[in-house]
Amino acid sequence: MIKPFRLLALAGFACLLPQLASAVDIRGELVQGGLAIGQAKPGDRIELDGQEIKVAPDGLFVFGFGRDAPAEHKLTLIQPDGKSSQQILIVRSRQFDIQHIDHLDQNQVTPDPATQARIVADINQVRDARLAASDNRDFQTPFIWPARGPISGVYGSQRILNRTPKSPHFGVDIAAPEGSPVIAPAGGVVTLSAPGMVLMGNAVVLDHGFGVYSTFIHLNDIAVKPGQRIAQGDLIGHVGKTGRATGPHLHWALNWLGVPLDAALLVPPMAPLAQQ
Ligand SMILES: [Zn+2]
Repeated sequence: MIKPFRLLALAGFACLLPQLASAVDIRGELVQGGLAIGQAKPGDRIELDGQEIKVAPDGLFVFGFGRDAPAEHKLTLIQPDGKSSQQILIVRSRQFDIQHIDHLDQNQVTPDPATQARIVADINQVRDARLAASDNRDFQTPFIWPARGPISGVYGSQRILNRTPKSPHFGVDIAAPEGSPVIAPAGGVVTLSAPGMVLMGNAVVLDHGFGVYSTFIHLNDIAVKPGQRIAQGDLIGHVGKTGRATGPHLHWALNWLGVPLDAALLVPPMAPLAQQ
């Protein structure tokens, strides 16, 4: 048996068509930005919307849905004897915070070409650190908050400046005081430890396995090295405001392969600091 995420298990089980409910066990709410864990039988293969996804020899797999995922998805189970069956997954849609700001001064500072090139290189470096679907199985354990403090930014929010939509915000921002510890929300292997990125500042990427990654940016300092295996609760660094940040906070992002997910869905409500 696999251990369900604490919160996801509370949120209810997947909407399954009856014919496959016995074949594939799925834990986690199917929702935009959500992560779900499935259990097939040993040797089964799984396709999501026609794309094969990683399945462990014992049948464990994980998948997620992006911010703008449509309602209907097709999960295909292919048994070792070649027999296949399909089920339709229904993904719940969410309302995201959209902010319209008009009449903005257009004369905003644009970075010089050299800085722009560094920004692109930074983004590529982070993308490359989140490409592989490793055999780590740390994503199965219930996640904990990597830092504690007021939530100052949420997943999926978007600003529309002078009618031009900006990229949505894909992390959860925790406005903890500068120097507060940042700990691993789940175990994993460090795939990126990058100081001095232009927008992200000091950044760390942690591989929880099967394509599930945490990214931490704006760190004051970094306490881990690439390739290092760390356990849940281990120190990653400290909260800062490096890169482009208006004040100290931890931006924690969750990804499943190329899909940005909502990290806040994996953790229980944050307990008040006084109770820690
Ligand atoms: Zn953020």
